[in-house]
Amino acid sequence: MSTVARQTFAYVDLGAIQANYRAVSSYISRGGVDPLVISVVKANGYGHGAVAVARVLEAAGAKMLACADIEEGIELRREGVTVPILVFGALSVSDLDGIFTHCLTPTVSSPGAARALRDAATRRGTCVACHLKIDTGMNRLGFRFDNLWQTIPEVVLGPGLKIAAAYTHFATADDREHPLFDLQRSRFSEALGRLEEFGIRPGLRHAANSAALLRDQSTWYDGVRPGLLLYGLIPSGCPRSLSLVPALTLRSRVVAVKGMRPGETAGYGAHFPVTRPTTVAVVPAGYADGLDVRLAGRGSVLVRGRLAPIVGAVSMDSMTIDVTGLGVIPGDEVVLVGAQGGNRIGVEDVAAAIGTVPYEIFCRTGSRIIRRYGQGMGRVGADGG
Ligand SMILES: *Cc1c(COP(=O)(O)O)cnc(C)c1O
Repeated sequence: MSTVARQTFAYVDLGAIQANYRAVSSYISRGGVDPLVISVVKANGYGHGAVAVARVLEAAGAKMLACADIEEGIELRREGVTVPILVFGALSVSDLDGIFTHCLTPTVSSPGAARALRDAATRRGTCVACHLKIDTGMNRLGFRFDNLWQTIPEVVLGPGLKIAAAYTHFATADDREHPLFDLQRSRFSEALGRLEEFGIRPGLRHAANSAALLRDQSTWYDGVRPGLLLYGLIPSGCPRSLSLVPALTLRSRVVAVKGMRPGETAGYGAHFPVTRPTTVAVVPAGYADGLDVRLAGRGSVLVRGRLAPIVGAVSMDSMTIDVTGLGVIPGDEVVLVGAQGGNRIGVEDVAAAIGTVPYEIFCRTGSRIIRRYGQGMGRVGADGG
């Protein structure tokens, strides 16, 4: 089989991910305490490639990873990742085998999950260590903070289940104005007190996602759970107190250049007629590669070091950019995310252009896009990855 070499590809700087991990680790180890960094690699490592990301994090000294479901955890184990892997997701309707056969650390977020897990452990004649999730206001997964006296007795009943940790998750950590953040913090403290009344004193308490970690040291407890920071992004509205390196670059190449006359349109729907003689370039990247259709008329790319607006329509496999006056020729490199010639388009810029969060842009990096891995932002070799 010949090597597939599409023009559009993602370059993932694994050195950046390691550097970001180290930056977070040293940031939170100030002042003698040394909270555990639980590195979040869910959703295919925020689109960067979970296996590659997990491996370099492990090599950089990561002591625990976290993923969304059992299937993600199994994939990492099959690829040789050995550090503890926390599974965030609900277990009540899952096949629990993978927890045991691949030594994953489950989250228990309901009495039903506790029951299922304990039964499964007892059948195997073993005991499983889990993290207990407390819902302090997100109203997603977790035991409600205000009726633990009702739900926890069932969890602590009998052998088979060991509560190694307790955690919660913030809904508004990136919003300085929102009162829910402080409320969640105090509810979590109360819940920890309540757990103690049931004889549960987890050695590991954790709460902070990236935004909380940057915003408030009192959320660090015994561990933090950064995701976004590891990939080189500071959540919007957070203090930029860490120096991070963006790990993802999305590149392509111009495959055609042509002229358009005033009044003509490009692409499906024939929207946005041009008002002057215009040169457009065709870039072989479309919504099947994860590019949002709303980028047409809103987003830009870099070519010849300059910003070129995305015009016409974003189609399944291609899009058109306005390169009037830039002297662009087929073969020119196009940067969809990343730096070129002193200019830079961040994932946060793409997100802002279409009114979404950078997380979504990361995760959308399409399955058709080949990820090439390297260390540092140097040029990628022709046969990379
Ligand atoms: C995704 C996730 C995180 C990481 O969030 P970031 O904002 O990327 O740091 C932490 N904890 C839980 C439970 C999550 O689901």
